Amino acid sequence: MIDPIPDGEGNALRLVELRREIDERELEFSRLAAEFDKTDWWDAEGFNTAADWIRLNCHMNSHAVWNAFAVGAREHDMPATTAAMRAGEIGFAHVATMARTAVEVGGAFDEDKLLPLAIAYSPGKFFHKCIHYRHAVDAEGYSRDQEKLVEERGLRLNTAQDGCLLISGLLDPVGGAAVRTALEPLAQPSGAHDDRSREQRYADALVELSTAGRPAEIQVTATIETLKGMAGAAAAEMEFSLPISSATVRRLACDCSVTRVLLSEDSNVIDVGRSKRLVDGALRKALAVRDKHCQWPGCERPASWCDGHHIVHWVEGGETNLANCLLLCKRHHRMAHEGGWRLVRVNGRVVPVAPTITFGLPRVADDSARAPAGAV
Ligand SMILES: [Zn+2]
Ligand SMILES: [Zn+2]
Repeated sequence: MIDPIPDGEGNALRLVELRREIDERELEFSRLAAEFDKTDWWDAEGFNTAADWIRLNCHMNSHAVWNAFAVGAREHDMPATTAAMRAGEIGFAHVATMARTAVEVGGAFDEDKLLPLAIAYSPGKFFHKCIHYRHAVDAEGYSRDQEKLVEERGLRLNTAQDGCLLISGLLDPVGGAAVRTALEPLAQPSGAHDDRSREQRYADALVELSTAGRPAEIQVTATIETLKGMAGAAAAEMEFSLPISSATVRRLACDCSVTRVLLSEDSNVIDVGRSKRLVDGALRKALAVRDKHCQWPGCERPASWCDGHHIVHWVEGGETNLANCLLLCKRHHRMAHEGGWRLVRVNGRVVPVAPTITFGLPRVADDSARAPAGAV
C-alpha cells in the first residue's frame, strides 16, 4: 500500500528528519572507514589502499571517501562540532569540511574558531571560510598547495575527424579566474532573443576573445567560384582545419579579417592578403562612430567586438564604403552568412529577413504561387 503524497509541510519536515538520520549514519560510516584503514583486510583483498577498496565496494567517489576518512580520523578533535550536528545546527557537509581542514592544518587546528562559522554559514560558504582559515594559520602550506595546482595546469587541443576542435584542460585558480573574467562579459546574452545555451555562449565568447580587436591571422584559400557560392565549386581550405563551406568563407572574406589567398580556376594565385575591400582604417572608424554597436535589431554588442559586413558582398560588386557596410557581432554575422538571413536597409533602419526554409535549405523568398511542389 503506497502512502498518499504528503503535503508540503509534512514533506519538508520529513526531509530534514531524514537528512539528520543520514548525517548520523555518515558519521558512523566515517568512524568505521577510519578503523578499516588500520586493518590489512583491503591489502589481502588485492587493493592498493583502503580508500580504493571502499570506493569500489561501497560505490562511492573519491571525494566522499576522503571526507569519510578525514571525519573518522579527526572526530576526537571536534566533539563540539559533532554535538552541533546531532543538535541539527550544522550538517555532515560542515563536519566533513571541518575535518579536512583539521587534516590540512595539523596541530594548528582550533575547533572553537571554526564552529561558529559552520553554524553561521551554508556548507558552500563555510568551505570558503575554511580556505581563509587555512591561509591564516599556514600561509606557506597554502601557497605550496597553490603552486602544486599551478604545476597541474595543462590544455589539450585536438582536432577531431570532422574538423571540430576538442578542448580539455585544467587551469590553476588564478589563471582560471583570469579566463573567467575575460569570458564572462562576452558570454552574456546579446539580447532578449538570444536563444544560445550557456555553453554555446562560452564557446562563442572564446572565439570572439581570440579574434576581436585584431585581425585573425587565419589563412583561407578559395577560388572565386567558391567565394561566389556557385554550384559545383570546391570548398575552401583553411589553416588548422578541414575544408570550409562557401557560406563561411564568404563571411570570413566579408570584412577581410583573414589572410586570404584567392585562386583562379586553373589554381593560379590571383590575390593574396588584404586589399581595399578590407573594412579597416578610416572606414572602420566611421562605421564605429555611425553604428556604435552590432546593427542587428536588439543587439548591443559594442563596435570593438564586431565585424564589418558588406550588405552586398564585394565579390558581387558591393562597394566597401559606409553605405554598403554595417557592424555585426560574430553571432549575427554568422546568421547573415551561414544562417541565410538577408539584411536590408529600410528608411535607414536595418531589417533582417529570415531565410525561407525548404527541406532544410535556405532559398530566396519567392511568391507562394511559385512555391515548389511539396514545399512545407
Ligand atoms: Zn558579412
Ligand atoms: Zn549582434
